Amino acid sequence: MQSEKNLNNSNIPIKEILEKNSAIEKQKILYNEPMKKHTTFKIGGPAEVFIKIENFEDLKNILKLAKSYQIPITIIGNGSNILVLDEGIKGIVLQINLKKFEVEDEIVTVGAGEKIGTIAQKLLKQNLSGFEELSGIPGTIGGAIRINAGAYGKEMKDVVLEVTAIDYNGTEKKFTNEQLKFGYRNSILKEQKYIITRLKTKIRTKQRKKQ
Ligand SMILES: Cc1cc2nc3c(=O)[nH]c(=O)nc-3n(C[C@H](O)[C@H](O)[C@H](O)COP(=O)(O)OP(=O)(O)OC[C@H]3O[C@@H](n4cnc5c(N)ncnc54)[C@H](O)[C@@H]3O)c2cc1C
Repeated sequence: MQSEKNLNNSNIPIKEILEKNSAIEKQKILYNEPMKKHTTFKIGGPAEVFIKIENFEDLKNILKLAKSYQIPITIIGNGSNILVLDEGIKGIVLQINLKKFEVEDEIVTVGAGEKIGTIAQKLLKQNLSGFEELSGIPGTIGGAIRINAGAYGKEMKDVVLEVTAIDYNGTEKKFTNEQLKFGYRNSILKEQKYIITRLKTKIRTKQRKKQ
């Protein structure tokens, strides 16, 4: 579990910067948002700024502003593997809520903000198999890829075909399974600063048991 602290930074006038420069709709930007609302353990002080990222353009826009004004960025998914201090988080917290579920031939493309359980259910509805063992992990696809989450003998590494991510300069990169160097609750994305945006996974048609 990771402890989110980012408390030493500055008095950057983030609100003013966002109001002047951001193309993101005003109502999507929350100030002093209690992080206890966004973590499984229901603890944690306020995020100076909290934005739920629902599209790629908003993400790029915020990363560009953060870079220009040196605003610290903290990424979260479903908040099931983080602890936030009572002092809260300075800078901007981005909750990755990118949604996508697209089946084409044997490949499924999934947004990083989709919950694992939701994807397992969507696949099941289409008689597709692959996420059953992982379905109880209470995180997003992005959070799970980063640490190669696993359950019942299956890990994210077993379902990843390709991962798309963006770095803090706004440059997109695609990673193959091998490039991610998955290990036990580990991948290179734990060390490298990338925000996971999409997963391509290969699935099978579920075999129906004969009665
Ligand atoms: C009751 C319970 C049961 C659990 N069971 C299991 C289990 O069976 N197996 C298991 O492996 N884990 C388990 N976990 C741990 C947790 O659910 C997983 O680690 C999950 O993958 C975290 O995903 P999240 O979206 O909640 O990430 P968060 O907790 O929001 O974030 C965790 C880390 O991932 C980073 N992150 C999140 N999204 C992205 C993204 N899109 N791009 C880049 N970085 C990102 C964050 O910056 C942070 O460092 C469990 C946790 C709880 C509370």
